[in-house]
Amino acid sequence: MERHSLRFDHKVVIQKSNVTDTLEYMRMNTENNSNTPGLVVVTGASRGIGLAIARDLAAHGYDLLLTHRDAPEAQSRRQADLMARAREAGFVDTQFIAVNCDLADDDAGDRIAKAVRESGLPLAGLVNNAGITRDGLAMRMSREQFEEVLTVDLTGPFLLCRALLPIMMRQRSGRIVNISSVVGIYGNAGQANYAAAKAGLIGLTRSLAREVASRGITVNAVAPGFIETDMTAAMPEKARAAVIDRIALGRLGQPGDIAHAVRFLLSDDASYITGQVLEVSGGLSI
Ligand code: NAP
Repeated sequence: MERHSLRFDHKVVIQKSNVTDTLEYMRMNTENNSNTPGLVVVTGASRGIGLAIARDLAAHGYDLLLTHRDAPEAQSRRQADLMARAREAGFVDTQFIAVNCDLADDDAGDRIAKAVRESGLPLAGLVNNAGITRDGLAMRMSREQFEEVLTVDLTGPFLLCRALLPIMMRQRSGRIVNISSVVGIYGNAGQANYAAAKAGLIGLTRSLAREVASRGITVNAVAPGFIETDMTAAMPEKARAAVIDRIALGRLGQPGDIAHAVRFLLSDDASYITGQVLEVSGGLSI
């Protein structure tokens, strides 16, 4: 586990362009920071949607526990970027914790829960974002190809919810946001494994929401449409044009579009929303 704490030193503070009085700036930010919204666990935060979620939450003062599978140098660079975003937004004392783990491993959930407990921070939320695709027509899909996607995209989130829910239950608060997909709602040729996993994640979301609502915990899903990340980068130009044609807003989504929806579902403003699937697809389905 790598742990970084962001504290301003004099040199950093005076770089803030619109603040001339260093002491005043530090005081202002200490006050801001007294109401930090707590720790959010984000899986698969190394790139794409997960990284956008981490950046957005850092800029809104959240403490973050991020999972990744990178070398330490890459993770350090990412932490520096997140710290800069928090600092730019005026948050002085944000905690960034990184846990290097593969979510297909049986002990991943327990290792993350241990890191949360050791942080001593209140657990505001969990974002199950990490996911993979292994596309192919169902008739030719091997059992391994099917199960690999189920393991990362469905079993992994289940195990992590199971590991972190006791902490949320004790607190009597917490928010879980599962990143599903429009493919989990409507299906997609060539993605039977992925669609099954993402549909399963919606079932998991709704069932958990019923199980933990009495403890003040909400569980929701976000179903992105086609978002420009590594996952969709390989789409042939013709297929991409055909998809854009079906999107009412006439463009593919950006990772930030999903991050904004996630932040809303994590916020107090969403406290009366649970067991729901928020489609963020530019109107793909209307
Ligand atoms: P991406 O760019 O391919 O990033 C996937 C992330 O998941 C990476 O951080 C990756 O880590 C991590 N990951 C994959 N397998 C893992 C494992 N076994 N253990 C730990 N981490 C693992 O994907 P994305 O487009 O940002 O997608 C993020 C989520 O949104 C996924 O759940 C995806 O299904 C969903 N989604 C995406 C779209 C879209 O159009 N992009 C649409 C609907 C839903 P590494 O960097 O270490 O590989």
